[in-house]
Amino acid sequence: MEKPAVLSIIPGSATMKFNSALVFLFAGVNLLIYRKATARTKVASDILAGASVLIGLLTLAAYAGIEIISIDNLFVSDPFSETNPGRMSQATALCAILTGLGFWGYQHQNEIAGHIGLIGLKLMALLSLISVVAYLLLIPSEEITSFFQTMAIHTSVLFLALAVALLLRNPYSHFRRILLGRQAGSIIYRKLLPVVLLLPILFSFMLLLGIQKGIFTLQFGVVSYAVLIMTLSLIYVSFIALGLNRSDRERSRLEEDLKQRNAQLDQFKQGMDKTAIVAITDHKGVITYVNDLFCEVSGYAASELLGRTHALVNSGYHSKAFYQNLWDTIEKGDVWVDEIRNQSRDGQYYWVHTAIIPLSVAHGQQSEYLAIQHDITQRKEAEALLKSEYVKNLEFKNKELEQFVYIASHDLQEPLRTIIGFTELLGKDVASGTAENTPLYVEYITQAGQRMRALIKDLLDYGRIGRSKEKVLVDLEQLLSDIRKDMNQRIKENKAMVKVGQLPTLPVFETEIRQLFQNLISNALKFQHTETAPVVELQARELPGHWEFSVADNGIGIADQHKERIFTIFQRLHPKSEYEGTGIGLAHCRKIVELHGGDLWVESQTGKGSTFYFTLKK
Ligand code: ADP
Repeated sequence: MEKPAVLSIIPGSATMKFNSALVFLFAGVNLLIYRKATARTKVASDILAGASVLIGLLTLAAYAGIEIISIDNLFVSDPFSETNPGRMSQATALCAILTGLGFWGYQHQNEIAGHIGLIGLKLMALLSLISVVAYLLLIPSEEITSFFQTMAIHTSVLFLALAVALLLRNPYSHFRRILLGRQAGSIIYRKLLPVVLLLPILFSFMLLLGIQKGIFTLQFGVVSYAVLIMTLSLIYVSFIALGLNRSDRERSRLEEDLKQRNAQLDQFKQGMDKTAIVAITDHKGVITYVNDLFCEVSGYAASELLGRTHALVNSGYHSKAFYQNLWDTIEKGDVWVDEIRNQSRDGQYYWVHTAIIPLSVAHGQQSEYLAIQHDITQRKEAEALLKSEYVKNLEFKNKELEQFVYIASHDLQEPLRTIIGFTELLGKDVASGTAENTPLYVEYITQAGQRMRALIKDLLDYGRIGRSKEKVLVDLEQLLSDIRKDMNQRIKENKAMVKVGQLPTLPVFETEIRQLFQNLISNALKFQHTETAPVVELQARELPGHWEFSVADNGIGIADQHKERIFTIFQRLHPKSEYEGTGIGLAHCRKIVELHGGDLWVESQTGKGSTFYFTLKK
């Protein structure tokens, strides 16, 4: 009967037996399931592997004349083979056992079974390789050994492929590690492998052919074979060696480069250690390195800091959100820069300008943070001093001094000029013996002198504001009711109405505050239209941190351009003949309000009235 081509690819050679095909079917199924390492697939894999081993064992037993069950034609009968129909070769049977062992070993990796499995696979690779090479060299298998006699070409190729596939999949296989590795050894291995496999086959084929065809003698063939293999292998290995030398030189150069860079980095680090406070923490903020300056500034020894977090020097000054922002930034891989107030071992606060740099990333997470800090305590203290009361006071005094200079140069000059002018005229009169204008001149001089005295008195009063006393708690409602009593006469004369809202009790300089209210009410009554009755309204409203007071009137108002000028000492908008006064009232008011840490300002509409606002701290 004609054999179908699929059973024996090479005409006349062995056929693949049904049992061999069954072993490959088991192996195929096993390959599909064995990587899903569930308990069920493990059992199924073990059963399939066991079945292969069993088929192999029963076949070998049959060869040994022990026929337990007729395994050869158990499933189908073989009409093609003459000797032992349906029986796989011994080599195939052995490979079936080794296949089973290989799968079994994979399921039991890293145990003795795993190692046995690996040895089995290597043996199987060797066996099938012999058979494949024999086919490639067209050597009838019987001529090598009857062992391989009836192993079909595809059976041997499939076993070889299966052995290689399983070896490549098993993570414990050396073959896999060497073949797939990234190191130099593996690279050379991969380069040499095709040559080591193909050259001998090619030359053996040529050797056999040459001898068979009588082209050369066996001796000549073998010698040429040896020499050719040696020469070509040497040439190939030389090329690889040259390439290797080249990459080695490159590696040495890179190493040298790296050394230099490391040295530079080291110098850089030394420089940084001398000038900056440096710490390195792990990804959780646990300190793994601190430099000497860190220890010096914080007052802690390195041994006290290592293994702890920066919480050790936390001064409790910054909010949680501040540190949250810090962590959010560095965990993203960004550099965080800001100023931190820390506390040293002896309780002293120190400020550090800080940059925290995420150092390296492993598995998408920052693994280390480098903190570089500079001590800015002195600058911070200077800034704080600038903001302090002391400086505010100084500014206040400076302003006062400016006003005094202004007054001395302008307002006091005016009566002085009058006195000098008329004294000169008086002198001329005396010289010429005329006394006609003398009484007038004397009157002018006296008036100027009095004006000067009044100015100087006002100036002294202004300078004295807030000099001596302490603040006391004053019920402002009570104070206003007293002021109203004092001003009762004037209010009546002016037919005025003075309304006072609810007022708080506050810590103030009492005399000064009394003067403040008096001045504002008095101005509100004074700067009025002649025909309307004055209405003055006093209110207070509570705001965060302070009270805001307002004194509103329905008087003549103040033009926009004068709204600041009126607070300067001796500055008036009207001649004395129209509204009497010296122009010191509002300057006093502003000084009193500023003395209490508040502000004074005016809002006004000319012709309709003005509202003076001022604030007092609670
Ligand atoms: P004096 O009252 O002695 O003139 P002030 O310093 O109290 O000095 O006031 C300065 C100037 O501000 C006044 O001359 C006046 O022109 C203006 N002024 C003050 N209060 C009012 C007010 N309530 N309505 C309109 N103008 C005012």
